[in-house]
Amino acid sequence: MTTESAFETAQAQLRIAVDQLGLSENDWQTLSTPRRVLEVAVPLRRDNDKVEMYKGYRVQYSTTRGPSKGGVRFHPDIDLEETVALAMLMTWKCALTNLPFGGAKGGIAIDAATLSDRENERLTRRYTSEILPIIGPERDIPAPDVGTDERNMAWMMDTYSVNAGYSVPGVVTGKPIVLGGSLGRNSATGDGVAISTREALRARGINPVGATVAIQGFGKVGYWAAIALENMGLKIVAVSDVHGAVTGFKSVSDLWNHFLKNKNLDAPGTDRLTNEELLHLEVDVLIPAALSDAITGKTAPGIKAKIVVEGANAPTTPEGDAIMNDKGILVVPDILANSGGVIVSYFEWVQDKQNYFWDVEEVKTNLNSIMMKALYEVEAMAKDRKVTWREAAHMLGVSRVAEAHKLRGLYP
Ligand code: NAD
Repeated sequence: MTTESAFETAQAQLRIAVDQLGLSENDWQTLSTPRRVLEVAVPLRRDNDKVEMYKGYRVQYSTTRGPSKGGVRFHPDIDLEETVALAMLMTWKCALTNLPFGGAKGGIAIDAATLSDRENERLTRRYTSEILPIIGPERDIPAPDVGTDERNMAWMMDTYSVNAGYSVPGVVTGKPIVLGGSLGRNSATGDGVAISTREALRARGINPVGATVAIQGFGKVGYWAAIALENMGLKIVAVSDVHGAVTGFKSVSDLWNHFLKNKNLDAPGTDRLTNEELLHLEVDVLIPAALSDAITGKTAPGIKAKIVVEGANAPTTPEGDAIMNDKGILVVPDILANSGGVIVSYFEWVQDKQNYFWDVEEVKTNLNSIMMKALYEVEAMAKDRKVTWREAAHMLGVSRVAEAHKLRGLYP
């Protein structure tokens, strides 16, 4: 059991940033309130003809700096509060990386693993049609998140386009390449986590070659982060999925190939650990890349890593954060560390608008330069204001949204 929800965590982080920036009560009111919240009922006809109703959400937290942008999550635990929290984080993340977007999030409270492909398609299309009035390339641009992938984005793009009467690739990002997706999008979040890890190691004076890493979560973020880090010369010593952790594998590619064939992580030579044991390994870097609230008042005291790089959104509660700060652990916060996904989503949106597509080197070079700028700004702000990297990242993101609010003024 955790004591704080993702929503309480996000609100607490915003409160700290507002106070540290010396913003007014009026600023707090506008910054702490989501702009638009939609809850929909999503009926699903199962393959056996049974009809079930699921709750779906789309939260547009902010549109002040541009159209709102954020993922679509299929997970049984999501609710409106968590969706608001994640949409809030997207807002600061887009501002921190200077993307011309506000923040959004959406999803359906369902376990994607229980869906056949046909059920998944029907559910995705019905959800898209329920939120259709408020999405669009100039309004709000969904993307994949936990439990969704490029197939879901293809169905969303098609449903939107059929209703528009023409092809609208820019309505979602994270699409298959042939439908206007971007090269480098699949690996983008993991690549960004790896760039963040490299820079955090530099800041701490640790040589990346041979540095050790444990990764919680072996999905889209965890897997690609592991591959990128291995290519940089780091040693991935343990990874986990929802069923627990393993250590002792030869390489990440070996483990992945075993996983694709057998649907488990028990490759030859591996030993099992619990997810908590993984969090407490003696490593240089710990990367939570699964769900919210992994690092709490209960799990943080046992962490021995020198650096924590948050691949997941909101993986740390304020209690867990305070414990890590007391222990002198350098934490690269989620809105910085996992921003690679939305940065390359931005590139995808730009390419769709221009109908001109970049090669993968251009994507990776531009991703690196946007992330490096944000990382240096956060490091400099943390040093200058004597705050943590998390506080610095929130101060930068929140201050840009507050400034945009002020410049646009209040209508009417
Ligand atoms: P995913 O569904 O591809 O993978 C999630 C992984 O976490 C899976 O390996 C799953 O087995 C594992 N997992 C689930 N519950 C777990 C538990 N209790 N303990 C250990 N492992 C568990 O999802 P993803 O896209 O990799 O997203 C992971 C996190 O990163 C989420 O918080 C998401 O919001 C965030 N994120 C994703 C992206 C992106 O581009 N996909 C971008 C930014 C942030």
